Amino acid sequence: MANTKEILSKAKQSWAFQWLKEPKHFFIAGKSTPSKSTQKWKVINPSTQELLCEVPVADKNDVDAAVASAFQAFQSGVWSESARRFRREALQRIGAIIRDHAEELATLESLSNGKLFSEAYIDDLPESADVFDYYAGWIDKFYGETVPVDPGFINYTRKEPVGVCALIVPWNFPLLLACWKIAPALAMGNTVIVKPSEYTPLSVLRLAELIREKAQLPDGVFNVVVGDAETGRLITEHPQIQKVSFTGSTGVGKKVLAGAAQSNLKTVTLELGGKSPNILFSDLPDLEAAIERSCTAMFSHKGEKCSEPTRILIQDTIYDKVVAGLVERANQIRLGDAFQEGVDQGPQAHEAHYKKVLSYIELGQTEGARLVCGGVAESVNKDGKGFFVKPTIFADVLPHMRIAQEEIFGPVLVAIRFKTEEEAIQIANQTHYGLAAGLWTSDLSRGHRVAAKLDSGMVFVNRYGCYDFASPFGGFKQSGWGKEMAIHSLEAYTKTKSVWIKL
Ligand code: NAD
Repeated sequence: MANTKEILSKAKQSWAFQWLKEPKHFFIAGKSTPSKSTQKWKVINPSTQELLCEVPVADKNDVDAAVASAFQAFQSGVWSESARRFRREALQRIGAIIRDHAEELATLESLSNGKLFSEAYIDDLPESADVFDYYAGWIDKFYGETVPVDPGFINYTRKEPVGVCALIVPWNFPLLLACWKIAPALAMGNTVIVKPSEYTPLSVLRLAELIREKAQLPDGVFNVVVGDAETGRLITEHPQIQKVSFTGSTGVGKKVLAGAAQSNLKTVTLELGGKSPNILFSDLPDLEAAIERSCTAMFSHKGEKCSEPTRILIQDTIYDKVVAGLVERANQIRLGDAFQEGVDQGPQAHEAHYKKVLSYIELGQTEGARLVCGGVAESVNKDGKGFFVKPTIFADVLPHMRIAQEEIFGPVLVAIRFKTEEEAIQIANQTHYGLAAGLWTSDLSRGHRVAAKLDSGMVFVNRYGCYDFASPFGGFKQSGWGKEMAIHSLEAYTKTKSVWIKL
């Protein structure tokens, strides 16, 4: 989806550029709250490497203040015991605020993450708003049950909020992934502390201000602190937090789990990394459509999507044709600034990540894979600044190679050849990840058979990458623990109490 002039004009007129000049504070107890720490983080525009602004990094005092605010608000019952209509309308107001401020929020997203403005504005922002309406609608439709126990008793269950929930999110969809968590957590009566990634905290900080001005939430229900790994650790280990919902890398997810276990055994939901297979059988219904979609799913959002199809498994009889088609399309992708007209792919989100992606490209060559496309950094700006990596494809990749096993999280696709259905399934399942998988076939029986055998939390048949609030999202194996979306998020933000009455 390329940036167009019409869409870009919305970014230029947005309030975001003005807002960047204002000092940045946390959002605690319903107020814009200056940090107690003096540590600052520089937020950089990855398209230009220019400084956008500085944000404070929360220390123990800041985290304690945010937790105290959320805890007090929860205990008071002002939110957790409020009327359903009160919470429903508040969530709907947040959705409306996001819609009303879509231009500036999308601008902040693109400035700090480098994703195309069109991707932020058309993909991320509407979904960030809509998820509040979706969960507002659930508030009076999610409840316990009457249990058919033996005569002499009545037994029923209650769905109760868990308490203070910490929501820790990464930099690839900074606002959207935060909203995926905020909406169901608030809907169920919890209070929240959001910690966006230090690389991309701007959209969530701005949302906090807008919520303060317009959402009429009780103080302390919604809190935001910005910080790095140490801030995340302090949150994860905090004894007054009852739940951590974490989206990020598998390595950090394990630390979150350990911290939760060692502190107060808070409950944890983990949405982690992926190395998702996409299997093209030679009997697929439309070769060109499969190549086109595989390419779009892989390279949109600059390959920084957890569920993207990074391993394409191609049956040997169509292998050369598919690789040629992928290369042709990938070579047409135009790189450039997130706000430049006619651009299809922005820069990688930050310098360390950019270097990691390039190091994997080097590794692929060392491992003996055949580089058929890209493979280099691209100089987009005259001064050579910006973290741009050309869409890269390796062919003749062997399943055991590190580039086929480890998450690169950039525009690097590996193509693996297979002969039989059994071999495809075996290769597809041969990683410690299990987030998503795709397969393409005209054979209905094969579609169902292979879908059942793939050890992945989501399987897409004949169209890679389908998502809906009504359908569970999340991975198996080391890609995650628990599900998000639909009723699953409501389960994740409630605890079930069993009540017995003797008659
Ligand atoms: P990351 O794990 O480095 O960081 C994620 C968040 O955790 C950030 O806010 C970070 O500050 C915080 N953090 C870092 N160390 C911490 C610690 N010790 N304790 C607590 N918090 C800590 O991930 P990232 O580089 O920001 O994002 C990329 C990763 O996220 C990829 O692995 C990608 O697959 C994954 N991801 C997964 C999903 C999903 O739904 N499965 C969605 C998006 C991204």
